[in-house]
Amino acid sequence: MLYAIIYVVITFLALLFLNIYSSKVSQELFYNSKEASMIQKCKLAATQISSLDALNANTVADAVADFQDLNVSRMIITDQRGKAIFDTDEVATLTTQYVLFPEITHALSGNDVFYWNFNDGIMRSTAATPVYAYGTLIGCVYMIEYDRSQGTLFATLQNNIFTLTLLLEIVVIFYSLIFSNTYSQRLKRIMTSIQTVRKGDYTQRIKLHGRDELTQLGNEIDNLTQKLRISEEKRSRFVSDASHELKTPLASIKLLTDSILQNDMDTETIREFVTDIGNEAERLNRMSQKLLTLSRIDGQPEHAFEVTLISPTIEQVVRMLNRYAAEREIQIVKNIIKDSPILIIEDDLYQILFNLIENGLKYNKANGTLTVTLEQENQSAVIRIADTGEGIPAESIDHIFERFYRVDKARSRSTGGSGLGLSIVRNLVERNNGSISVRSEPGNGSVFTVIFSIFDAAEDDR
Ligand code: ADP
Repeated sequence: MLYAIIYVVITFLALLFLNIYSSKVSQELFYNSKEASMIQKCKLAATQISSLDALNANTVADAVADFQDLNVSRMIITDQRGKAIFDTDEVATLTTQYVLFPEITHALSGNDVFYWNFNDGIMRSTAATPVYAYGTLIGCVYMIEYDRSQGTLFATLQNNIFTLTLLLEIVVIFYSLIFSNTYSQRLKRIMTSIQTVRKGDYTQRIKLHGRDELTQLGNEIDNLTQKLRISEEKRSRFVSDASHELKTPLASIKLLTDSILQNDMDTETIREFVTDIGNEAERLNRMSQKLLTLSRIDGQPEHAFEVTLISPTIEQVVRMLNRYAAEREIQIVKNIIKDSPILIIEDDLYQILFNLIENGLKYNKANGTLTVTLEQENQSAVIRIADTGEGIPAESIDHIFERFYRVDKARSRSTGGSGLGLSIVRNLVERNNGSISVRSEPGNGSVFTVIFSIFDAAEDDR
């Protein structure tokens, strides 16, 4: 509403200024044209009179007879002292009098004079000019014109300007009210929606229609609310999943400690139980480490991207997991066909390869093989990690990248799995602009494929 009032006041002032300005200009136009014509008439009369041999009522009347037709309402001719020689109005009473109108005294001082005023639709113009004969002032010519038609014209013009201004202002007020009303209603909708979202209701939608900035703002807020809703859902699912997962080892620890406390046990059994407690604590430790990694990935990347080759990291991971592979009697085969530089956070590449290769060993069969292939396809570096394990059932394929998802909970737990490894891998691959997919034949093993675009220095320069 405030904006509407400011807008109305500003346009009102602008229109008022235009109104005053245009009526002043038109007034000046009238004034100038009238002044020019009146002074010209006076001068013409003065020329006629200056050529007369004798100045008296009759000679002057003859000389200026033609001027009667020129719309002059009254004409007075005086001598050099201001005594009227001739007057078109009431000739008899005035001819012997001194006429001391200000215009006449002024004209007798040698000036051309013009006055103008406008009253009751009548334009009253007076003009006077001195009359010279052979360079000597011999009198003056004074004229009055009452002009009703010009006056009417002038009044109509001013009225029109005023009416137009008034109409424009009414239109401005009308539209300002309509606009400010719809504008503030739309703003109110946005405000109410923001307040509702602030209170925690993420189902709220503003849904404005149109193409203006407010609609864009409304849509942006809708998108933001949608994002908030998704992240809120993720957060609460994560918290409930995490607490559910942490509950199991904690319950085992509680059960084991209760058994030790409530039963008489020999040292050997106590040792066994305490070892189990230690293993559960170790699992909790691993899980919390992974949860920390996940929450770090969700935040901003801490490390800088670097251009790096992939095979050195493959070598490094394989070196790290060689012992684990040997324990499980699995052979690791490296098949580096073509290495390529990629733009990546190096620690992320290590973590991705580590988790995938570790899974390939963990879920493999004894005497199985794990093959890591690196090649180039089109403009991409393709890493394939293939194992000869049990494979992943078709119904689980779509879920294995979800947090805490495990195909065989019991088996995974026995191998120390938390269901977080692949979720970390997917988050890391995505934050490094790569893609990951999996193909699996139950009974014949699985192939995880990770693809990154090859770093192109020329494109980067652009
Ligand atoms: P975990 O810590 O349980 O290994 P992951 O997120 O790494 O968690 O894997 C999720 C689940 O996907 C695993 O529990 C397992 O059932 C399945 N999985 C992952 N990798 C393989 C693989 N190479 N072969 C068979 N199953 C796999």
